[in-house]
Order: sequence, then structure tokens, then C-alpha cells
Amino acid sequence: MNQPSTSILIETVEELKGEKQATIIGTPIKTSMLNAALVNGAMSHVLDFDKAYERIDKVKPYIIDPSPRPAGESEYRISPRELERYVEATRCINCFCCAEACISSHKNFLGPNAVMASIVRLMDPREQAREERLELLYSEQGVYRCHTSMACSFVCPKEIDVAHFIALAKAGRFRA
Ligand code: SF4
Ligand code: SF4
Repeated sequence: MNQPSTSILIETVEELKGEKQATIIGTPIKTSMLNAALVNGAMSHVLDFDKAYERIDKVKPYIIDPSPRPAGESEYRISPRELERYVEATRCINCFCCAEACISSHKNFLGPNAVMASIVRLMDPREQAREERLELLYSEQGVYRCHTSMACSFVCPKEIDVAHFIALAKAGRFRA
């Protein structure tokens, strides 16, 4: 309700006036059915963002158990191909566009961005907590909820092929 975008919408609707047919949720403001649907719909998306953050928290988007640097090495090792994929995946800015677009987001699914956040860490040679990650990734909330509609890849402003990463995960690519 206190989100700036919602406040702007409410102000605009009040300026438009119109018939007092429906209430804007959480306010005493009455407006036309169409305007109320617009603002109430926008507010439900704000709630969806809360859920999206919960899902991100659930996958722990950080290195859970950092491995010690390999003996005698100054750096961790990763293949050039994996590094290329890793760099692509880490460009995610958590805008949640993919989660909004995902046809499976309303179901018991972690969603594309949360799955991506976990895949990034599975590609990271510093992460040791692989079993914990794989358990969630292949749980009933995980990658098999994805229907490969490609909507996530289509809407991503960073042009990350999210659906491709999820397809790789479905094929067991990050289990090793
Ligand atoms: S490809 Fe999968 S994760 Fe991406 S939008 Fe479609 S169902 Fe959602
Ligand atoms: S749309 Fe792209 S940048 Fe935005 S959260 Fe999804 S993967 Fe990340």
C-alpha cells in the first residue's frame, strides 16, 4: 500500500473521479469498477513480489559452505565454458520480470529467478553445500514444475536465457 507506484495510481484514480462503484482495497476510496480493478490488481503484484523475495531467501542466494582454496593454488578452478555460463547467470538483477511472466509461478514453484540463483551457486567452485542445493532444486518446488514455455527468457531485460539454464538443470547438468 505504501509503495510509490501504488500511491501514484491511487492519486491518478482520484483525479479521474468516475462513478463510485467499487472500493480500493485497504482504503475508504470508492471509484469505478475499472479503476478499482487497475489499482487492486497492481497491489496484488506488490504482494507477489513479497513472495518472490521469500523464494529467493529459500534458495539462499549466497555461498552456504565456502570451500577452502585448493592447496598450492592462488585461485579456484573453473573451465572456460563453465565460466562463460557462470558470468551470464550472474548478470541477474533480481528484477522479477521472469517470475511475473512464469506460467508456473502461481503454483508451488520456486520460480525462474530463484532457481537461477541456486544454479549460479551450483556452478560456483567455491560452494560445498551442493547436496542441500540439489535437494531443493529437484524437490516438488523445483525445476520439474517448469513447463519450458520460455517466457522467462523472453522477458529478461539482461537477456539471460533462463529457460535454457532450467532445461540444463532438468537434464541433470548441475548434479555433478
Ligand atoms: S520456461 Fe519454465 S521457468 Fe521459464 S517462464 Fe516458462 S515455466 Fe516459468
Ligand atoms: S528477468 Fe532476468 S534479470 Fe530479471 S530476475 Fe529474471 S533472470 Fe534476473
